[in-house]
Formats: sequence, C-alpha cells, structure tokens
Amino acid sequence: MLRDRSLRRALRLGDRDARVVRLLADGRGCGFAALVAALGDPDEVRTRLSALARLYVLAGERATTRLSLVQEAAEFAATLAAAAAAPEAAAGTVPVHFPPGRDPPRHRCVATGACCSASFLGPMSDNDRIRVSGLRLGARARVSDGADALESVEFQGQELWGMRRIGGDCVALGDDNLCDLHAEHGYDIKPIPCRQFPLRFHRTPWGLHVSLLLACEGYDRARGEADAWSTREQEVRAFLAEGAHVPASALPFEWSAGVPASVAETRGLLDALLQGFDTDIAAPADPLTPETAEYTADPRALLATVVRSFEAATLARAAALSEGEEVAQVAAAGLATAGLADALEGDAPWFDVTGLAAHKARLAARATALADRDEPADVTRLGRFATGLDALIDNAQAAPRGAFRLSELARRHLLDVVHNDLPAQIALGQLDAGLANLARRLRFVEALACALSAADGASEVTARHTTLALKVAYRSEPDITALSASWVRRADAAT
Ligand code: SF4
Repeated sequence: MLRDRSLRRALRLGDRDARVVRLLADGRGCGFAALVAALGDPDEVRTRLSALARLYVLAGERATTRLSLVQEAAEFAATLAAAAAAPEAAAGTVPVHFPPGRDPPRHRCVATGACCSASFLGPMSDNDRIRVSGLRLGARARVSDGADALESVEFQGQELWGMRRIGGDCVALGDDNLCDLHAEHGYDIKPIPCRQFPLRFHRTPWGLHVSLLLACEGYDRARGEADAWSTREQEVRAFLAEGAHVPASALPFEWSAGVPASVAETRGLLDALLQGFDTDIAAPADPLTPETAEYTADPRALLATVVRSFEAATLARAAALSEGEEVAQVAAAGLATAGLADALEGDAPWFDVTGLAAHKARLAARATALADRDEPADVTRLGRFATGLDALIDNAQAAPRGAFRLSELARRHLLDVVHNDLPAQIALGQLDAGLANLARRLRFVEALACALSAADGASEVTARHTTLALKVAYRSEPDITALSASWVRRADAAT
C-alpha cells in the first residue's frame, strides 16, 4: 500500500510495481539500467514506469502539474460549499452557460411520461420533500398520502429523496400520462427536478453548465416562439435559489488517464473543440420553424472532427509532460477514443456482432426477470434497446448512408447528441471516456431511429423516431456503456 499524503490517497500496487517504487525510493535502483537489472526486461520496466507516471507516482512535470491542481480543487470545493450554504446569493452571481451553437429548446409537454419513469426521480430539495409529504393526492395517483409518494437512495454517504416508483413509473403518474400533483395542486407544487425537466445542471469551476435531457420527447415540439436563453437563465437562477440539487464536475481535470490539465487549459480545450459549431451548421432559414430549417452538418463527421482535435491536443499535452525516453509515452492507442474518428467517418460496423448478440441474450434474461416483477416500463425499454442492437447487428439500417432520408428536425436531434452532450461530458470532468460514450450513443440512436422508421414502412427518419430512440438511449446508459467491450477498433483490426 502506497500512502500519498500530498494527494491524500492510498494506492494498492501489485508486487512488481511496488518493487519498482521501493527501488526508486531507496535510491539504489534510481537508474534505468539498475531497474532492468532487478526486473530483467527493459520493456517491462518502461511499461511499469509509464503506468506509475500516469498515477503521478514518478517525480517530474506530470506529478508537479497534478499537485498544483490541488489548490484549484480546494478553491472549487470552497465555491461549492458557499453555494450550498447560501443558495440565493450564489444563484445571483454564478455564470450560466447554455449549449453552444444551439437555439433555445421549444419545449412542450407531450405527455409521454418520459420524465416520470427515470431510474431515480430526484433528488429533491428539503422543501420539496416537506411540501410533497404533506399533500393529499388525487384519483390519478397510486397512493393517496404524500408521505407514501417518496423514496430515498443512498449516494456517496448522502440520503437523496425522490418520487417513489412503482412498476418503473412515478406513483403520481396517471394512466393518461399526466401528473396528479400538477392536476390537483398546480405546477408550482411539483418538486424541482420535475419542473426543471428537460433542463439539466452541472456545476463546473467556470460556472453552471446547463444542458438538455434529450430523453424528453417534447423538446422542439412547440410551434410557438421559444423563450430566449436570457429568459431561461432567469428560470435557472430561480431553481438554484430554491435549492436545486446540482452535481459537481470531478476535479482536478484529466484529459485522459495521467494527462492532467488546469481549469483554464480545460476551458481552452472546450472552446477549441466547440469552435466552428456555429459555422458547421447552416442557420435555419426561419428560426421559428425548425421543421423547415436546413441543417446540413453531418452529425457523425462533426463528432469525428471533435475526436481528432481532442486526440491531437491530448497527445501534445502528454508529450509536454514527458518524463523522458525511458518511460513509455501515452500513445494514441492508449486513449479511450483510439480509432473512434475513423469509425465515425466510415460506414463499417462499429461493433463486434458476436459481442452484441451476447449482450442481447443478457437483455432478454433481464426483461424476463423484470416482467416477473411487473415492471412494464423497463421491459418496453429493454425491448426497444434490443431492436437497436438488431439494427446494429444487421448493419442494414445503420451503415448505408442515404438509405433513409433524415428529416431536418431529426437531423437537429442527432446534432444535439454532439452539441448538447459534449459540453455536458466535459462539465462532468470526463473527456476521452465521455467522447467515446457520445460516439456509441450517436451510432445507437441513428441505428434505432432507422429501425423504427423501417418498422413504420417509411423511408424517412422523422423527429418522432429520433426522439423515441434518444429516450431509449438515455434510459439505457449503463447498457450502452457495457457495449464498449464489443467496440471494434480500426487500429486493432489493422494489426
Ligand atoms: S411528481 Fe409528477 S412530474 Fe414529477 S415524476 Fe411524478 S408524475 Fe412526473
């Protein structure tokens, strides 16, 4: 066990790595030749030194940079504590950032219950919990006493409260997909997470990042004029002042394992990655009717460009923090995004079909178990997820470009996977893994939307297909992440 006081952590190392550290620490093995003499294989020594460097165990520029970020982490923690102690004051001053390159959402509730069937319907503020627990619910609801309409989960030592689910849906959701709290007591009585939907907040060191939960089928459905971002900003500040629960990004930032960067550097990278978003997308001819807007950007090609820029920036930064030639440097193949850009631009299948088929078999077993437990909402979602996997396996719907026409609004939705979610992933402090996730999400949504269109006997993918596919994808995040084992890397295939 290695106790690291500077970074306040304890690392459990394997025997061989621990031996390298001991040799380095006692001075007898500090030369490369001495390490090779002790371990026997120069390649093994290089690889072990590289792994230790990426854990910031070796003295050098990389570890020094990582240590300097401790101060930034402390400052961010202090900001978070101040916001929690005085939410109203913090709500008035925090800079608010909306998705770049995107017009405000034209949201209209279409009563699909999408916001009322997530795996956790919270977290609520203390006031939400007190208010809801004192209510009488009406005939739509499946409980009559507000105190019975709540449930809690344990998260990182905290007890978080949300609306209770039965069969995968909120107990206040009626058969007509309308909310009983809203119908009986009005909009303002609902907990903050319900009113906030489809906006989602993350707190970053440069302010509050707002994104859209693309699982909502009602976004961009309203025909009237959308509220300007400035109006949405007032709404966001009101939620913050009311005590909205806001997850914070991880700190300090790493662009990839062992590639640390300061807040300013990460913010600069974000700006560079997003540069050109406005020019890549032809502006809608009439911003009030997105159905007729001419979005011409190709979502896959756009994400591929972002991935290439990210890889180049990360490798350059890793080289600048190099410990010397005796420590193997981060190679492109070591990044979670390796091969992604090629796969995004090509028509070849991304996934290993055998892996997908095995995943589908596991889904079927889970669906049977859920059906036995009477959880129909999740069974339906899993069924649609399996349809998306079938489309990827067949590759018929997923690969050939031009086989399906994409309606303009459907294209807007696919672009949102990049525009809206990329800053959100960065706000969460995930860069390479986040980009890989976006790529899988985009390709899955594309395949499922085409499959849904084919099932309708149509040759055009419409906004109805993409919104449904997005809903399935966002409710199936762990399943999409699990597909990473089936990822086909061009780099691997070439060797
Ligand atoms: S309280 Fe209403 S809006 Fe909130 S999750 Fe339940 S049904 Fe949906």
